[in-house]
Amino acid sequence: MEKSSVFEIPTEEKMAVRKALVSWFSANQRVLPWRKTKDPYHIWVSEIMLQQTQVVTVISYYKRFLTQFPDIFHLAAADVQDVLKCWEGLGYYARARNLHIAARRLVAHEQGRVPSEWAHFRQLPGVGDYIAAAVLSIAFEKPHPMVDGNVKRVFSRLFEINTPVNRSASYKAFQAVAGVMLDRKAPGNFNQAVMELGALVCKPRNPKCEVCPVSNWCRAFANDRISKYPVRIKKTRVPEYRMTIGVIAKDRKFLIVQRPYEGMLGGLWEFPGGARHSGESASSACARNIEQTVGLAVTIDSRLTRIRHAYTHFKIIADVFLCRYNDGRVRRNGPIAHRWVLPKALSRYPFPGSHHKFIPSLLEMYET
Ligand code: SF4
Repeated sequence: MEKSSVFEIPTEEKMAVRKALVSWFSANQRVLPWRKTKDPYHIWVSEIMLQQTQVVTVISYYKRFLTQFPDIFHLAAADVQDVLKCWEGLGYYARARNLHIAARRLVAHEQGRVPSEWAHFRQLPGVGDYIAAAVLSIAFEKPHPMVDGNVKRVFSRLFEINTPVNRSASYKAFQAVAGVMLDRKAPGNFNQAVMELGALVCKPRNPKCEVCPVSNWCRAFANDRISKYPVRIKKTRVPEYRMTIGVIAKDRKFLIVQRPYEGMLGGLWEFPGGARHSGESASSACARNIEQTVGLAVTIDSRLTRIRHAYTHFKIIADVFLCRYNDGRVRRNGPIAHRWVLPKALSRYPFPGSHHKFIPSLLEMYET
């Protein structure tokens, strides 16, 4: 079926699909903490967390976050470092920083009220089409369709849509389809029903068509072409970078530096490091990076470990070295802040996921 054919589906069929989805959702939805509330702030927090992270990971973070920042006023009053610490390990830290800025803005100018209008809510930092549709439809029952990977997969199979789902332009195409299909009487439940169907039944591999509430109307199922959908274009392999990280010890304290708030992993703390040039040994690269980024002369003592970490658009392989401080003062035009901290104080600072791959073994070493 061509993309445009979705718009030609008879009204009775659309109504039947909507009804089947919403009643399946009310009987089969997972019990999740954010489904017990209509509080727009709570729903906003959950949707921001869920945007790049799996449900099972989000549950404990969501509970912890709302214990620490139970309403928008608590979040607005918090220090950004406490917000990042609470978010630590969840990744994509711009989500936390933007949520914090948005909360401050709403408390300062709107008495802490979460806007229920698209134009108003959508202009807040960190609020894109997806978050706006999620919060407005679930908390306020506004008729905005949500589109994520699950939704694209379900609709591409249901209507045999040939638009590649991993092309950025596909968002608009699927948003139009989801808008046509949206149940305007129950937009929140309809949106969640499609996503829940994608998560539990219409899975990427081995969809459970035999128990699917919309199999009667599913083109891919009827035509035995499920494996052809969703259509994807081949992506190029993500690049892999060689890095070094230096744990500099001085008087049993370690040097940690803070990343600029703007940009990737903004506001988080890390051990100094940087890229390894081709032909350069890992230990020389480590000493050079330390000299260049923080202006200290060090002796490389030993290699602690090698870690691998994947980000969205690239991967790193980093050699982590134990280094002894020799000389120099941390340069003031380097990182935005630095601290010399005892091993036991490391847990007070938010670190990126890559660092959590070696901090435990570092602590083990220094605590014995
Ligand atoms: S019938 Fe199968 S392929 Fe079609 S929507 Fe249901 S689970 Fe997905």
